[in-house]
Amino acid sequence: MIHVFSIRFRIAAWYFLSAAPILIVLAVGSWFAMRASMYQGIDEELFRRTLGVEQFFQTRGDNSIPELQRELTNGPDLPLGGGLFQVFDAEGSLLFESPAIARHNASHPGRHSPGEKPVYRNSGPSGPRVRLGARSTAINGKVITIQVAEPLRSFDESLTDFAHVLYLAIPILLLAIAAAGFWLGGRAMAPVERIILEANAIGANNLTARISVPKPRDELRTLSETLNAMLERIESSVNRLGQFTADASHELRAPLTLIQTAAEYTLRRERSREEHLEALRKILYETKRTSALVDRLLELARADSGKSQLHLMPMDLAELLNEMAESGASLARKKQIQFTAHLDTVPVQILADDSSLREVFIILIDNAVKYTARKGSISLRLSMDAAFAMVEVADTGVGIVSDDLPRVFDRFWRADKVRSREMGGTGLGLSIAKWIVDQSGGVITVASEFGVGSNFTVKLPLLSQASRRN
Ligand code: ADP
Repeated sequence: MIHVFSIRFRIAAWYFLSAAPILIVLAVGSWFAMRASMYQGIDEELFRRTLGVEQFFQTRGDNSIPELQRELTNGPDLPLGGGLFQVFDAEGSLLFESPAIARHNASHPGRHSPGEKPVYRNSGPSGPRVRLGARSTAINGKVITIQVAEPLRSFDESLTDFAHVLYLAIPILLLAIAAAGFWLGGRAMAPVERIILEANAIGANNLTARISVPKPRDELRTLSETLNAMLERIESSVNRLGQFTADASHELRAPLTLIQTAAEYTLRRERSREEHLEALRKILYETKRTSALVDRLLELARADSGKSQLHLMPMDLAELLNEMAESGASLARKKQIQFTAHLDTVPVQILADDSSLREVFIILIDNAVKYTARKGSISLRLSMDAAFAMVEVADTGVGIVSDDLPRVFDRFWRADKVRSREMGGTGLGLSIAKWIVDQSGGVITVASEFGVGSNFTVKLPLLSQASRRN
């Protein structure tokens, strides 16, 4: 169906609209050019005829006017002026008029002197139209003006015919041009329609499908590649979402199963008060863990949807780390882990969200304690360069095998699921920490050696740098 707003239709309309004035100007121009060239031909002929009449007068220069008049009247076959001519003397009195010209409305040519350029013009509006040529010359010292004429009927007819041809040709040409535009538009739009069809066929169930890329290196190729790149991103984010949902369900199922098992086991027969309390303690522990997991899942879901935004405010990183060091030290003490802090008391101004940044260091210190054996050690260090503050949380714990390092910040990734779960881990801590650091304009990295220890570094822009960037 032809849609009036389709690009194809619009191309045809543009062709039509831009060709129309060009063709009209060309038509009018060619009509005038044709007329000018006709007049030029007629004028040359008229000039030739004036020469013929002049020659006649030259050869009979001595004859008296009445004699000449007689000779001219009696010699209608004389090839003079094509039968349409009249001669005037210097005063403008008519010396001779051929019988044929009397029927035409050939007015007086006006005065001009010998040597002047011949004058050509058309006869007035009344009577049969003629083109007149007048030229003055001196014969035996007497000035005469010869005026010859040529009927314009056949020329006018030719011009009218030509105009008719143009009237007919212009609309036909315009229609042909519009049709060509429509056809070309269709050809140009065909790949776009194919892209539309292919894109329409891609849905949630076949996100791996791609739009075929045309061979020519043109805009349509770029468009197909851009759409494919977009599909790539959508596919990977849908996959990630699917994976996240599957992982989240899996993680939630484990504690729920434990809660259900504990309740069913206890209810199977009469239990002592002690057994009831034990079961309730188990259920409470799992409920708390599940609740913590749900909190983290919510946090990540909000982060993904863009709803969770950090409220970045100027704050003193040194002060925050000093507080963190105190709680870290007491956490480490419970496991007999030595905790050392290398912190400055000088304020270190950064732009961050206080509670979120606190969460980052809680996650890192908590992990360091969790994955470090008794008698191990943990250090918290703050350093600075011109643009960044660096916080290192290093431990002498189990470490991470180098192959696993790139996955440490992935959601739900855990080197040892069972062990992490036993310790109350969710596998989401580091991914949340990374999101917060990224949002704060910083970078979080890890260096680790299996069996030796791990070193997590958080690099945050100093306030002066952060404000300069914003
Ligand atoms: P979890 O709740 O399991 O601790 P995280 O996202 O905080 O989840 O950490 C992901 C995994 O990274 C952990 O399960 C653990 O295998 C590894 N990991 C994190 N911190 C350390 C550390 N300091 N030392 C050794 N392994 C660590």
